Order: sequence, then C-alpha cells, then structure tokens
Amino acid sequence: MFADPAAFLAAAADLLGLRGLTTDPDLLAPWLTDWRGRFTGRALGLASPASTAEVSALVRLCAEHGVPIVPQGGNSGMSGGATPDGTGGALLLSLRRMDTVRRFDVEARRITCDAGMILENLHHAAEAEGLRFALTLGGKGSATVGGLISTNAGGTQVLRHGSMRAQVLGIEAVLADGSVYDALTPLKKDNRGFDLKQLLIGSEGTLGIVTAATLALVPAVAERVVAWCAVPSLQVARRLLLHCDDALGTTLEGFEVMPRASVEAVLNYLPTARAPLAGDHAWHVLVEAVADKAGAAVLRDQVEAAIAGAFEAGLVEDAVFSANEAQAEAFWTIRDSVAPAERAKGPAMQHDISVPVELMPDFVDHASAKVEAAFPGVEAVAFGHLGDGNVHFHAIAPAGSDYVSWQETTGKEISSLVNDMVTEWGGSISAEHGIGQLKVGELERLGDPVALAMLRQVKQALDPRGLLNPGKLVRPAAQAG
Ligand SMILES: Cc1cc2nc3c(=O)[nH]c(=O)nc-3n(C[C@H](O)[C@H](O)[C@H](O)COP(=O)(O)OP(=O)(O)OC[C@H]3O[C@@H](n4cnc5c(N)ncnc54)[C@H](O)[C@@H]3O)c2cc1C
Repeated sequence: MFADPAAFLAAAADLLGLRGLTTDPDLLAPWLTDWRGRFTGRALGLASPASTAEVSALVRLCAEHGVPIVPQGGNSGMSGGATPDGTGGALLLSLRRMDTVRRFDVEARRITCDAGMILENLHHAAEAEGLRFALTLGGKGSATVGGLISTNAGGTQVLRHGSMRAQVLGIEAVLADGSVYDALTPLKKDNRGFDLKQLLIGSEGTLGIVTAATLALVPAVAERVVAWCAVPSLQVARRLLLHCDDALGTTLEGFEVMPRASVEAVLNYLPTARAPLAGDHAWHVLVEAVADKAGAAVLRDQVEAAIAGAFEAGLVEDAVFSANEAQAEAFWTIRDSVAPAERAKGPAMQHDISVPVELMPDFVDHASAKVEAAFPGVEAVAFGHLGDGNVHFHAIAPAGSDYVSWQETTGKEISSLVNDMVTEWGGSISAEHGIGQLKVGELERLGDPVALAMLRQVKQALDPRGLLNPGKLVRPAAQAG
C-alpha cells in the first residue's frame, strides 16, 4: 500500500514548505509521547499545515501514497489517541499552526475559529468581548479546539453547560479522501438527515480532521463564588450536590470531589498551595456558583445561605468561601493540579468512568475495596466530576514500582477488574477522555456487539482504507485484540 516514503516526504515538503514539515528527530520527539508518558511512537514526519486548503491537499497526498495520518492538537489527551504506533509509517498531522479567529459574532454570541486554537486563548478571546466559552479543564493551556471536539471533552462545567458536543454549532473537517466538509454555518434548526457534525464530534480523528468550528458563547461571569467544603463521605457529597442543586439552581456550575489523598498530593507537589481548610477530612468538595450581571448582586448571599443550610442539615463538616477572584483561582488550582500531582508520584492506572450519578458513591466504595484487597499495596483514589456521575478512578502503584513493567502487568489486571465492575454497574469505561489506543481492546472486550458493529460500519463508510488514526477507537474486526 505504501510505496515510497522518500517520494511522499518530498511531495509533502513541496506542498507545505519549510515551516510545514519536519523530520528532525529533536523537533518530533516532544510530540511522540502522550501526556501521561504511557505511549511512545514513531512517525515519518511532523506536518503542520497552515490552512484548510493545505490540510486537504496533504490528506489527498497521503491517500495517494497510502500514508496513515495521526491528527494531533495539544497532545494533552489522556488515552494515547494522538500518539502514533511504533512502526514509523504514519504522518503526525499537527493543527497547532492553525490558531486564528475567523469570525466573531458578538451579538449572536458565536465564534468561529481554527481547530488549532488553544482553549485558554479561546477563553481570552471571548472575555475580551464580554463573553465566555463555557468549557474548561486542567489542560486548557495545551488543549485545542480540534482536540476538544475530537474527544468530546468534558471538564468542570458540564453540570450546567454540557460537554463539548453542546458547545459546537458548526464544523469544518477534511475527510479521508481530502474533501472538505463545510458545515460551519450555525443553523438552529436543520433536519436534512443525520447530524453529521455530531458524528465527527468524539470520533478521535478516525473519521475526519477537524479544521475549524463555530462555537457557542455565553455571557461573561460577573460574579463567582467558590466554596470549599469538607464532608465525611462520598455519599454525603452526593446529598450535598442535591442540596446545592435545589438551593442554587442554574447558578451552580461546578461540583468537584477530591479525597484526602488527592489534596495531600497537590499540597506536596505545589509549594505555593495552601490547604483551604484546617483539620483532617476524608473528602473535599469544590462548589462553584456563577452569575452574570443580572444575578451578581445576590450570588454571594445565595451561596452562603446554601452552605449554611447544608451545615444545619449535617452535610458539611467545615467550609470556606473564596473572598475574591485570586482565592477562587487558588481553590481551582488545587483541583486542576490533582492529575499532574499524581503523575509526579509515579505509575498509576487511570480509569475515567461514569455510572448513573446516584450509584457513584457506592460504586467508588465497592471498587476501591475490591482493588485494594486484590492488589495489596495499591491505593485507589477517585476524584472529579461527581455532579456528572463521572470520576477519575485511579489505582496508584506501590512506591518504587517500575513505570512500564507495572503498568503492563499488574496495571492491566487492575484495569480489567475496574472495567468489569463499571460494566456490571451499567456504566461507561470512558466518560470523557475517549478510547484512543489505551482502551481500544477493552471496548472490544466489553462493548455492546451491536454498537461495535455500528462503529465499524461508520468507520468503513467514511475511511474505507483505514488511513485516519489507525488502531484508535475502532479497529476492523479482524484486527481486534
Ligand atoms: C491536566 C489535565 C487535565 C485534563 N482534564 C480534563 C477534563 O477534565 N476533561 C476532559 O475531557 N479532558 C481532560 N483532559 C484531557 C485533554 O485535555 C482533552 O482530552 C482534550 O480534549 C485534548 O485536546 P488536545 O488538543 O490536546 O488533543 P490531542 O491530545 O492532541 O488529541 C486527542 C485526540 O483527538 C484527535 N485530534 C486532535 N486534534 C484533532 C483534529 N483537529 N481533528 C481530528 N482529530 C483530532 C487526536 O488524534 C486524538 O485522538 C485533561 C488533560 C490534562 C493534561
């Protein structure tokens, strides 16, 4: 299928110019390993096209030469989806050079931007116009619009605003044959058959390369109050969530839980971080409420009254409120640093799971006990987006474990056990991080056969030669592990 790498690279260099293509191993190296350091691959080269026309021409060239493509945004993904395999035969296609705002419609609260735009820059662009892009996550300094769309990212505001799927009004993508699917126009009503843009969202680069998107914005935050609460158990945290939902209504935007071990890990990792509360508490909850201009004046009183009510109901052991923006940010920095702090501690198996939200506290207790009993020395921690029925359930290796060998042996056994339990409880083995190469085998093992067959049929229809991100998310039945 793949005739001549040298001829392909020469043609790609002609097409993209000096800035658009490199084979320099030093320039390639940072992009060949995933954020968690779990996967390292090799690539023919790193292509960085500067426009949709260049992406289209490049994909056409890849099709002619039979070269597989691994699309990549900020490389902050958690499932190894943007890391090529070890053969060195694929081209890494970075969208990072494509990072401009194409159109800003302030009145209609919409922005159209290139897929390589970094999330944090998108936040700033919206803020400059008195608006807000209502999705954020810990990797916002690297994650790109194209990556967020392709993984259907979640983050910490899904409770109120939904995941990336809910923010996307239009999409432009280059398909496997190089043709450009242009659906950037934001139509509120459009019933011309399947919603093809939704098919691309969450497809992890296996159906097309997202080159631009039209995104919904909301009014800027005029006031926000963050409460940091201590609770005795995850069951009580869940009751606190219901209480806050009643008391705060649509101002409630974030409800994040962290066990004692995660908060301690962050305090050790970040020298500038301070514990929000004195004393020893089993669980910490970050509650965020926000208001636009209309509700700003009363927000603080509302939040304080809600948490006072929770005290009276015996739900909260202790609590503190952000007095200003700097303090609100400091609380969020602790939450956002849980993943990096844990990464710094050593190997762990991460499970980004969801079960129906009312079952999550019992699931976490059940799964933690099972994992710790079956694998002595392993510590199970669960943190994250309780409000969405989604936690990151991590099994941390005993100190001193070798990174690769532990993950490849014990780690895999732990993941099978956890994924079995998630499936038994009616949940999902990927709530927001996608499947990538990390979970492709587990999806094949545990997924509904009818759903798997549908995934394969869609893939076959849109990418019959399997050149777009091969080995990720969905593999032909013959290659299934
Ligand atoms: C500290 C930290 C915290 C995080 N917290 C969260 C969280 O709370 N919620 C959450 O959902 N995620 C979280 N993430 C994961 C990550 O930020 C998201 O998965 C994000 O969407 C990845 O974006 P990216 O641009 O880095 O994509 P990459 O990692 O580069 O790619 C991810 C996948 O998308 C594909 N892809 C990338 N760009 C394109 C494109 N233009 N067209 C087609 N396919 C493409 C890749 O091939 C790959 O399969 C976190 C990451 C970090 C580092």
